[in-house]
Amino acid sequence: MSTSPIPQRILVVDDEEAIRDVFAQMLQAEGYEVTTAENGFDALLKLKQLRPDIIISDLNMPKMSGFEFLSVIRRRFPKVSVIASSGAYGSRVVPTGVLADAFYAKGEDDPRMLLSSVAALIETSSVQAIAHQDESAPVWIPRNGKDSNGVPYIVITCTECLRSFPLNVTKEENPEVLETTCLFCSNTVKYIIDFSLSVTSPSKKMSGPLHATGSAA
Ligand SMILES: [Zn+2]
Repeated sequence: MSTSPIPQRILVVDDEEAIRDVFAQMLQAEGYEVTTAENGFDALLKLKQLRPDIIISDLNMPKMSGFEFLSVIRRRFPKVSVIASSGAYGSRVVPTGVLADAFYAKGEDDPRMLLSSVAALIETSSVQAIAHQDESAPVWIPRNGKDSNGVPYIVITCTECLRSFPLNVTKEENPEVLETTCLFCSNTVKYIIDFSLSVTSPSKKMSGPLHATGSAA
């Protein structure tokens, strides 16, 4: 039906090589031009050269989570349609907070579903692009670790300049959109901390045995 001389370009982002290969082969067989990336940072580097029509991204990846990557994509490349793929959610509904146009449950959904999602998004790409412009895209981040003083910190990637900087977390906020200023370009970065992925919790620390009195130490 679509006899466009320029093949549609698809960027596949997944930390598992086997998944990248399977997706790439399947999409190439349909005539798409496919580029792959191992994680969010790798993908952002490739996006300096490449302007895909569609990005298919895993959600659970090391270095930069798919949640954060897709937030950056929605802000920086609002015209690109996105399919989130994950083995961690059992439904066909886009998981809450994920800025994606479609969801593919790896290992559960028939691979043909991925192809039909791609085809549907290409058909409606101009509509998607307009809808994306109206969205304000926060960055989703898990707690990242503790600094040398034991204070938990997160790493935020600026949605404007794409540079990353750490920010200390002193209390467990409700999962709502917070704001901070980028250390580099002064852009206001909106973010949500995904506490379900947290590795440390300052509030739990306070009730530990540190304040016990009358110890024999
Ligand atoms: Zn910045």
